[in-house]
Amino acid sequence: MTMDDLAFDQRHIWHPYTSMTQPLPVYPVVAAHGCELELANGERLVDGMSSWWAAIHGYNHPRLNAAMKTQIDQMSHVMFGGITHPSAVALCRRLVAMTPEALECVFLADSGSVAVEVSMKMALQYWQAKGEPRQRFLTFRNGYHGDTFGAMSVCDPDNSMHALWKGYLPENLFAPAPQSRFDGEWDERDIVAFARQMAAHRHEIAAVIIEPIVQGAGGMRMYHPQWLKHIRQMCDREGILLIADEIATGFGRTGKLFACEHAEITPDILCLGKALTGGTMTLSATLTTRDVANTISNGEAGCFMHGPTFMGNPLACAVASESLAILDDGEWQTQVATIEAQLNRELAAARANEQVADVRVLGAIGVVETRQPVNMARLQKYFVEQGVWIRPFGRLIYLMPPYIIRPEQLTRLTDAVKSALNDNTLFSG
Ligand SMILES: *Cc1c(COP(=O)(O)O)cnc(C)c1O
Repeated sequence: MTMDDLAFDQRHIWHPYTSMTQPLPVYPVVAAHGCELELANGERLVDGMSSWWAAIHGYNHPRLNAAMKTQIDQMSHVMFGGITHPSAVALCRRLVAMTPEALECVFLADSGSVAVEVSMKMALQYWQAKGEPRQRFLTFRNGYHGDTFGAMSVCDPDNSMHALWKGYLPENLFAPAPQSRFDGEWDERDIVAFARQMAAHRHEIAAVIIEPIVQGAGGMRMYHPQWLKHIRQMCDREGILLIADEIATGFGRTGKLFACEHAEITPDILCLGKALTGGTMTLSATLTTRDVANTISNGEAGCFMHGPTFMGNPLACAVASESLAILDDGEWQTQVATIEAQLNRELAAARANEQVADVRVLGAIGVVETRQPVNMARLQKYFVEQGVWIRPFGRLIYLMPPYIIRPEQLTRLTDAVKSALNDNTLFSG
């Protein structure tokens, strides 16, 4: 990439959550292999982000590449209306087999946010079909469910600036974020406010929507499994649907194949995305029960009202199937457990740093919460100079590397985090 390309980028291309007048620097990546990103100048960075939870098997995986190449020579895409194809069937067979037994019906879409929209529409149509329309969702604060309007309406109201969209955004119900930590004691008082909200609005709530165990982009918080057991019971008691958004946590990241397994619960609707294709193509899936699917289908509309142009894209389905086949081989369990042990060992020392408010680790996720917000541009540059790719935000420096990361590569990541904590110029305030 030339300087001219970078100038063009700066002048014409939006990046996630950035300003067009004061854009943050971007780093040109020209290739990626295994657990490394290669910059245009030839430098290699150890990847600590898995491209936002997605690239669990690392980059340029030979099996994933081969699956895509084979599919390309058959067809890259064909419409899904009135047509089906082997890659979609193979993928959905795998999804139905690997998720809890009650989840039988799969809706394929093109991104996580759309999977969340689909799940919310399913809940709304379910109640419509029962002749008892309900229009509200109950969720936690500090949640993140995507950037489209339905999804935003259940994201943390402050983080996603609900004030900006007032009058347009549906107003949903927010309970305080869970306080009982994953690695701590369960405190029964944690659910009082949530239970009260549910009781007060029991005939209005179509579904509870939550990220099980780990609240991702809304704060990288890890909460006690007992929470999910209680939510499941409360939803069952009231007949309210439970939507588990496992777009970030799915496919092994927390040490279980799905985070709901930590509490041994089954949601009524499950959203999957991010790592679904091993981080190669954009694809999401929303799974639900036969009961929800049949109720919707027997309702007034007579069908589920959604159908994206690129629904069931064969190329994405083929590579997703192969990614799930790699997971099926089972190596991820040892890989994630090894990463977890090493993160625990190597990040423990950071607790003593006065910049650090908290350190938490679960599965292949390591989080250092700082007292002051990071200076994103400066800290990012610092990490690149250290030869690592870590993208901090707010008061969070976190690692979620590809499962294939080698111990010495992971040490480079944790070393870089620990050394950054000693440099006050990397933090604002
Ligand atoms: C990333 C994410 C989404 C949104 O997925 P996109 O593919 O970015 O639209 C939804 N929910 C959770 C929990 C996520 O982490």
